[in-house]
Amino acid sequence: MLEEKIQRRLRRGVIFISCIIAVLLLCGVLFSAFLSSSRHEAARGQISAEAEEYRSRIIKQLKADFQTLSTLAVFLGSEDTGEKQQLAEKMEEANEQNDFLTIAYYDTDGNGVLATQGMEPAVGARLSDLAPEGRSVVKAALEGRRSVSRLFQSEASDQRVFVYGVPVYDGENVIGALVASDHIEIFSDILSGSTVLAGGGYIHMVGSEGKFLVRSPNTVVKEDLNTIFDGPYLADAEKEEVREALKNQEEIFGQFSYEGKEYPFLLEPVGVNGWYLFCVDTGEWLGMTSFGPARVLQITLLGIILLMIFLMLYGYRLLRNYNNELLQTAYHDPLTGAENLIRFRQRLPEELEHSGGSVVALSVRQFPFLSEIFGREKAERFLCQIKETAEKHVYRDEFFCRGAEDRFYFFLRETDQETVRSRLAAFTDEMEKNTEITRTTDYQLAFYCGVAVLPSACGSPKEAKAASENLMAHVLFALDSAKGVHSSYIWFFDTELHKKEELENYIESHMHQALRDGEFRLFLQPKKNLHSGTLDGAEALVRWKTGDGKMIFPDQFIPLFERNGFCVELDLYMAEQACRQIRSWIDRGITPVPISVNQSKLLFFEADYVQRLTELVKKYDIPAQLITLEILEGLALGRVEELNEKIARLQAEGFRVSLDDFGSGYSSLNTLMRLNIDEMKLDRGFLLNTEGEGQERALVIMKHVIVMAGQLGIFIVAEGVETEEDEQLIRKLGCDAGQGYLYSRPVSAPEFDEAYMKDEMKRYM
Ligand code: C2E
Ligand code: CA
Ligand code: CA
Repeated sequence: MLEEKIQRRLRRGVIFISCIIAVLLLCGVLFSAFLSSSRHEAARGQISAEAEEYRSRIIKQLKADFQTLSTLAVFLGSEDTGEKQQLAEKMEEANEQNDFLTIAYYDTDGNGVLATQGMEPAVGARLSDLAPEGRSVVKAALEGRRSVSRLFQSEASDQRVFVYGVPVYDGENVIGALVASDHIEIFSDILSGSTVLAGGGYIHMVGSEGKFLVRSPNTVVKEDLNTIFDGPYLADAEKEEVREALKNQEEIFGQFSYEGKEYPFLLEPVGVNGWYLFCVDTGEWLGMTSFGPARVLQITLLGIILLMIFLMLYGYRLLRNYNNELLQTAYHDPLTGAENLIRFRQRLPEELEHSGGSVVALSVRQFPFLSEIFGREKAERFLCQIKETAEKHVYRDEFFCRGAEDRFYFFLRETDQETVRSRLAAFTDEMEKNTEITRTTDYQLAFYCGVAVLPSACGSPKEAKAASENLMAHVLFALDSAKGVHSSYIWFFDTELHKKEELENYIESHMHQALRDGEFRLFLQPKKNLHSGTLDGAEALVRWKTGDGKMIFPDQFIPLFERNGFCVELDLYMAEQACRQIRSWIDRGITPVPISVNQSKLLFFEADYVQRLTELVKKYDIPAQLITLEILEGLALGRVEELNEKIARLQAEGFRVSLDDFGSGYSSLNTLMRLNIDEMKLDRGFLLNTEGEGQERALVIMKHVIVMAGQLGIFIVAEGVETEEDEQLIRKLGCDAGQGYLYSRPVSAPEFDEAYMKDEMKRYM
């Protein structure tokens, strides 16, 4: 029970803890997901914003360069562009104030002037000598449009350059084109800024085919790559999609992993020549922004969750250990470490459900003395030795426990008495020879055991429970019986004997109350007079009808009452009932018949016996002649004189005296001849044994006894007349009356009245 309770509590604890852990983990995961998604959102937003910022700076730079070029163009428009040498000098002068690589002027005929930084200005340049990218810019300018070229390799400067071009006007007319080239590194200043994403990112610039135009020195990807399609940036599956998106100048978000880390990136179109800003987030900026504390919070939370999980698991372990300890103390005997009686009673029904077996209760004879002689400590060590020896003697599927003091209980699988006996003998033998006490002293150790056997399994838990309780009770009865015997002894519980003892216990504890409550009833059995064929009288026989309607017969309680002395009271009570019955007949105008009452030895020798009987007949005012007192011949043993004296006094008062059960025991003819009795009742055993050879002689003897008794004036009644043959036999032998089932069983007084007393004619039997 306790175990179940603890298991239940533990199970609840485990479920509770698991739920809390699950909830905590879920919270942690959700929180992490939330943080990481906000981080991503924020990162994305931040990259976008930064890219936009850099884009606008690039556009601004381009605009500024165009502005410079346009101003120069206005200035050139006012000059004489025909004067080439002069023009060249002017341009060289102008370029010194700007950062262009080269400034060139081409007229509508394709003749040009070039001013390159660090070189002499060139007059007479031809448009056709210009790279195609430059040419298209010039062409656009001559058509009145300003433009910027794609990137190309300049032969003059051997650098990757691009070209701006603006038209030069004279009034309304385009008279030429002013172009300037610059290498792309002018953006490097913008793009190499270590401030990208607060230092946690960097920006490259790429062309619309994905070629790197400007690579940030802060790049995490160290390989020298040509395009974004090389290296770690894009998965093969993504490449086509990205190519398409680049062509369409779309913004692209993505992520690549490099050396085990993930990096989000953004490809943002600049809006000029298909250029793109390729922004990469290295994540470090997050540590410096508001995400730093969030990260700390996330880690702290994770730490707290882990700590809580640890604490809970630790708490669970503590609880489990505590429960185990609780079970240990609840189910074990602290002295020997054996299981205790509580545990034994719990295990027993579980076993009995599936198997029969024996329960043994074992005690040490005179244990308190042993403890007194050798001291408590030695006695306790001795109990521990019992436990150790018991462990050796029980099989694996058997068990035992220590009850109180020196009492041990065993459950053995055996159901055969002899096997149980020999196993227990082996155990007690070993104890008697091998304990500290028996080895070191000559103390005669002895055990006594009670055993109760259940022959087969019970089948259902309910039956097993009941059987277990019975066995535990019965084994104590058996132990009690074994205690009475000296030296080591094993007593098996006997169900029949126990039932008898149980009944005796009931009888003894209820007899006084039963007498007060009138539970002892008067039953009457008729006697037939063999000469007249009429009712001769009746014998009063007691019946005990208990409160719950159960009938107990005299054989079950009279011997006990004779032992405990209660028959004195009962016999007088029955004698009174007989007197009352006779009184009732007389009162009803019915001619009474004599009633015989059985008298026990104890009552018979009571000093005031005769006086008490006399008082009774006086009380009911009936003739004493109607009361016959049946006594047993055992009364005469050794005290014939005393008995005869009492008989004489009774006869003087008018009572008749009958010798009951003649021939049943050690009746001697001598006793019969010496007692002055009025009646003799032949025991029914004599009728039972009338057949056979030896009986012939018995019959002859009996016939003579009857004849002799008759001559002494003794009235002879034969008991146990069951058949017509029985009646014929007793008639032949010369009996005066017969009593037995042939005529009637003992019946209640009202039934007797109904059968014989209502009508004089009915008395013919
Ligand atoms: P008992 O005095 O020998 O009584 C005769 C017993 O034989 C009665 O048993 C009766 O029922 C039984 N019996 C009668 N006819 C037959 C028959 O044809 N065949 C057989 N087989 N049995 C027959 P019951 O009533 O059980 O009484 C048993 C004994 O208890 C009596 O033996 C008597 O000794 C004693 N007893 C009965 N009532 C009292 C009482 O009030 N006081 C005392 N002290 N003893 C009593
Ligand atoms: Ca009798
Ligand atoms: Ca009898």
